[in-house]
Amino acid sequence: MTTDLPTNIAYLDKLVAAMPTAAQAIFGRIFHVSTTVGQLDPPETMRQWIEGYFGSVEAVKSQRIVKITNLVTMEGSLFNELRASRPMEAKASSDLEETIMSNLGDPFCKPLEGTPADTFGRVRGKHSITASNVAKYDGLHGVVVFDEHNPLVFSSGEVSDYLDTALAWARKAHDVDREARYFFFLWNCLWKSGASILHGHAQMTLSRDLHYAKVEHLRRSALRYRETHGVNYFDDLYAAHKALGLTLESGNTRILAYLTPIKEKEVLLISEELDQDLKDSIYKVLRSFVERLGVQSFNLALYHKPFDSAQDRPITDVEEDWSGFPVVVRIVDRGDPNNKTADIGAMELYAASVIASDPFRVAEALREELISV
Ligand SMILES: [Zn+2]
Repeated sequence: MTTDLPTNIAYLDKLVAAMPTAAQAIFGRIFHVSTTVGQLDPPETMRQWIEGYFGSVEAVKSQRIVKITNLVTMEGSLFNELRASRPMEAKASSDLEETIMSNLGDPFCKPLEGTPADTFGRVRGKHSITASNVAKYDGLHGVVVFDEHNPLVFSSGEVSDYLDTALAWARKAHDVDREARYFFFLWNCLWKSGASILHGHAQMTLSRDLHYAKVEHLRRSALRYRETHGVNYFDDLYAAHKALGLTLESGNTRILAYLTPIKEKEVLLISEELDQDLKDSIYKVLRSFVERLGVQSFNLALYHKPFDSAQDRPITDVEEDWSGFPVVVRIVDRGDPNNKTADIGAMELYAASVIASDPFRVAEALREELISV
């Protein structure tokens, strides 16, 4: 971009206004941006405390706030200049390492004895093995138990293997139940993310009749977008981010630091297929999260077309239109595992997400990692 404006999310309105007209049109089809300034009058007695936390009293007296809404999906985020301008530094936690290692010997360390198998058996990967989830949230619900105990220790080959193993499990599950075709892969890392077992593991389900509500909502939103504008939503979403310098490409995978993140540092990966490029890209993004952005607890979700269509087999009983729907991976930071306060509250559940991390800084970190790999 040819502008002297600060690449700061709080100035998104000005950055958009400086974009080429064609890019602005695409951006405007998807996003609505509203900027305001919050003001306050602190008593003298608060001066020291404010300076300690925010650098100066002036910085908090007037705060620039931007509300971004994705008009297609109705996801929304609120950014405050004060929070967004804080540097994002990786900080090591020796306590966490200790907690993780003190859990060695948990049931997932010996999966054959500590976990149930599915009725159709287990899938053995190169660095993992599947188990049947004890308390299922869907009829077909499995776990990829990593050979590696520490969930923050992973290589490119291991991440690739976890995805391959989950897919192999899904094919097996689909052979058992042909009606089950909606594949979903998730990875909750450490308790802040909702993981109940500390040992590294991912999960996958194969659902029947209709994909999960949020995936189906995205499919319907993208379809409506194509019907209205005649173009693919995901292509435009990427173009809107690219015009702002929030994207990067890794082989066939398109990566973006999302403008309406569900919570901190959310990154989207978009690919036509669940191919090697995507698997490698997932690894690189996770690596940059852990190594460069100090992330310790995260969620990863993978959206996929119904299973039969992904296999290029005829879809016999899926009525809905999945054409143009890519594989979408979403990765989000869930905050410091040592912090007792939950990272989401009523705002995130019922209104819009309050975000402290600037997507521009996230994009920078990703770029550094992907260039250095
Ligand atoms: Zn373990």
